[in-house]
Amino acid sequence: MARQVGMQAGEVLQGKTLYFWRTLQYLLFIAGAGIFFSLIFYPDLGINLLWNVLIPVAPLILVLMPGLWRNICPLSFISLLPRRIGFSGKKRLKLAMQGKFMLTAVCLLYLILPLRHIMLDTSGWASAALLLLVGGGAFVSGATYEWKSGWCSGLCPVSPVEKLYGSKPLVTFPNAQCTSCRNCVIPCPDSAPQIHPLAQQKTPEHRLSGLLLAGGLPGFIWGWFHVPDFHGMEGWHHLIMGYGLPLLSMAFSLTVFCLLSKTLMQDHLLLLIRIFSAAAVVCYYWYRLPALIGFGIFPGDGVLVDLSRDLPFYAPWLLQLSVLLLFSWWLIRKPELQLSWKIKPPFEKTKRHSRI
Ligand code: SF4
Repeated sequence: MARQVGMQAGEVLQGKTLYFWRTLQYLLFIAGAGIFFSLIFYPDLGINLLWNVLIPVAPLILVLMPGLWRNICPLSFISLLPRRIGFSGKKRLKLAMQGKFMLTAVCLLYLILPLRHIMLDTSGWASAALLLLVGGGAFVSGATYEWKSGWCSGLCPVSPVEKLYGSKPLVTFPNAQCTSCRNCVIPCPDSAPQIHPLAQQKTPEHRLSGLLLAGGLPGFIWGWFHVPDFHGMEGWHHLIMGYGLPLLSMAFSLTVFCLLSKTLMQDHLLLLIRIFSAAAVVCYYWYRLPALIGFGIFPGDGVLVDLSRDLPFYAPWLLQLSVLLLFSWWLIRKPELQLSWKIKPPFEKTKRHSRI
């Protein structure tokens, strides 16, 4: 049964519902600021909150409720602030530039993730600096481009992952960010059902970004989990390992994806993308959940609570089996509901808009 929370397409979000979402957005922004300051003043706490709590929960939210995350993400709040307080340039992003932004987002993702092993996972200052940089990027792109085209559906390095994981949401939420739709990005990932990284293929950059993400992410994640965290400046002496292993295994899974999409699964691109998205998220939790409770490949890396002496040796296998069954079923086998992440807001007609 299709599920929508509270509204119909084209309705304006107002009253108590709007108040509820705004409160949630401010709370998440304050929580984000809390993580930022704890990274500086209480680095162990900040690192745990960011890398061992928030980030491990994120893929699950992106699979089940991408619309929820898109409504409350603190970076999205920062990016849309200029629009909300009336000083965004509202520049329209041309199609060619959209493709370039999407490719940049994928490159940023593959550039930033290995930095976690090099220094981010063990340095509060470095992680805080990263948050400052991406927060600044979100603000500037929101102050320049219309609605979410610059950051949330453009340069944000998480946005390609949202498209890969979020093709079968559990529920559709109201759009608590765009008060009117200006068709700022086509297709709009928030409003189009069955969105995926290769949904827009009009320019080479669109195609390349979709391929690198959908085909490459499972391999990249596998390689990433086989690199340890480095401490202090040690990581800078292991750049080849930090980047090389994830990129090499990414090249392998990308090659398999390309071969399958040209041969056996030529007519089933969406299914192929979902198999690879399931592979990526299963691979992530396969390694990440055991590590969180002290059963990781590299002892001490990414541990939230060390339960390795309290739980039986087979506990991680049970977790891994559950993850395999849940996400394979959800992303590959679960019946299609054709839900979008969010309900489209009312359309805003302007002279410029009518020419699109
Ligand atoms: S709902 Fe409309 S204005 Fe908002 S992000 Fe989507 S296309 Fe842009």
